[in-house]
Amino acid sequence: MSVFLKTASHSHNERIARIIWAAHMLFYLTNTQSHNRQPQDTKNNGECDDRDTNEPSDNETDYETERAVILSGSRTPIRRKFLDCIAQLLSPCKGWNGVTATAIREGEDGVEVDVARNDGFFSRGDRADSAVITYCTRLEGYLAGCDEGSTEVTATSPEEFELKAINFARRRVDYWIEDLREVLKHHLNSTKSTDGLPQSSPRQEDANTWMTIKDLILQSCPNQCATRYRVLVVQQAYKCVNTPEIQQTLSDNFGAQIATKLWTKLNFLARPLADCRLLASIVTREPHFRNCKIVPIPPKPKTTLEPKYMIEIFTAWEQIGLESPPKCVIQKLDRFNKEFKTTCAEAFSLHAEMQLVLHYEEKLAPPPTLDYFGCSKKTCLLCEIVLDTLPSPVSTRGRHGVCYPAWGVPNSGADTIQLAVQRLETSLVDRIGGFLGGLMHPRRKGQAVNTMQSGFVSDLSRLTLEELQKRENDVQSFKSKQAVHRNELMIR
Ligand SMILES: [Zn+2]
Repeated sequence: MSVFLKTASHSHNERIARIIWAAHMLFYLTNTQSHNRQPQDTKNNGECDDRDTNEPSDNETDYETERAVILSGSRTPIRRKFLDCIAQLLSPCKGWNGVTATAIREGEDGVEVDVARNDGFFSRGDRADSAVITYCTRLEGYLAGCDEGSTEVTATSPEEFELKAINFARRRVDYWIEDLREVLKHHLNSTKSTDGLPQSSPRQEDANTWMTIKDLILQSCPNQCATRYRVLVVQQAYKCVNTPEIQQTLSDNFGAQIATKLWTKLNFLARPLADCRLLASIVTREPHFRNCKIVPIPPKPKTTLEPKYMIEIFTAWEQIGLESPPKCVIQKLDRFNKEFKTTCAEAFSLHAEMQLVLHYEEKLAPPPTLDYFGCSKKTCLLCEIVLDTLPSPVSTRGRHGVCYPAWGVPNSGADTIQLAVQRLETSLVDRIGGFLGGLMHPRRKGQAVNTMQSGFVSDLSRLTLEELQKRENDVQSFKSKQAVHRNELMIR
C-alpha cells in the first residue's frame, strides 16, 4: 500500500459515508445545476433538469455529423463511435435503469465489448436477461454479416436485426413519437403549403419526405399493429435525418428555432436504425470488428451505509470537516434534515461506468485497450471525477456535470479505487467549500459561479448591520446545535 494511503487513515467505509453525505449536501445546495467547468458546456445547464431521462443535451450530434466522423477514417473517433452505438443499442429505455456503458478490448482478429447497465444485468434472473443475451448474439450476427454495400440498404428494407433493434428500443421510440406528436400539434398551424414547388424538384422530394413522417406521427398508432407502425416511423425519421436538406424544409415551414427542435427529435426517433447503419459503416472500414463478442457484465454490490453512519445532516456536515455555514445554507439544509437520514440509508447501485471500472480493478476481465467508455447518456459529475482520477483517465462522450446523490460508491481494496474514492471525497468537499465561498464572496471570480442560487446571494447582499449581528447569533446557535448533535452521537 502506498505511503499516501497510509497517511490518509480514515477507514474506507467512513470515506464512503462521507462521500454519500457530501453528494447529498451538494445536491441539496445546487440541485440539478451543472458543475461543468468548461464554459462551452454551460449551454446545456438548463436542459439537465431531468435526472433520470435522456435530454436533448445528451445527443447534440446528429446523424450527419456522426457519419462524417466515420468517413474521416480517424482511428480513435471511429472506435469511440463504435462503443457509443453499441451502448445506445443495448439501452432499452429512457430513464436511469436503462443507462449503459461499454468498453473495448481489441485484438488483431476481433474485438470484445464489455457492457454494463445501471440496473445491472442478471440482477433479477428473469426472462429479460435471457432476452438481452439473445439480443447481444443477434447484434454480433449483424456485425458479422455487414460487408461492403450493406450500408446502402434502403430505409424501406431494414435487415432483420434492425427490426429487432427498433423493437428492443420500443419504449424509447414510443416516447419520442408522442413527444414529436405534441410539438407538431402545437405548431400545426405554422405549416406552410409546399404546393408552389415544382413536382420533380429535389426540394419537393424533401418536402414529401417530411410530409410523410408528419402524417404518420399525427395519425394515432393502430393498436393491433403497433410494431409495424413503430418501424415505419423510425424508417421515415431515418430517411429524414439522412437528408440534411430537410432541415431547410423544416426551417422554411416552422422557422429556425422550431426546426432545430424537430430535427433533434427526429434524430432521437431514428436512433436505433441510425446506430445500426453507423455500426455497419464502421465494420466496413474496420473488418476485424465483424468478429465482435459482446459481454454483459454481472452487477456489482450496492452501497449501503452502516447504521452508525446514518446521522443528522448537521452532524454529517461537521464530520466532513466543513466550516460553519451561513444562515441561508442552514435554512436550506434544514429543509432536508428529516429526509437526509433515510435517504442516505438507501442501497445505491453503481452507475454503469463505475461497474466497468470495478470489473477491471477486480481483474474479472482483461483491461480495455482504449481509455474510453461508450455511453448511452452523458456521464454524471461523480462518475466523471472518478474516471478522471484513474491512473489512465477514461473519457466518455461528454458529461452533464450534475451531481446525482443516488450513486453507489465503488468499493474495493485495490489501491486505484481507494485513491480514486479518496480524491472524490476531497473534490466534493472542495466543491461545497467553493459554493460557500461563492456565497460569502459573490464577486470572487471562478467560485461557485454556475452553482450559485440567486436567492442566497441576494439574501446576503441586502444584509444590514443588525441582520449581520442576527446572523452571527444564528451561527452561534448552529454551533451549539452541532455540539448537541455531537454529544448525542457520543452517547449512542
Ligand atoms: Zn454516473
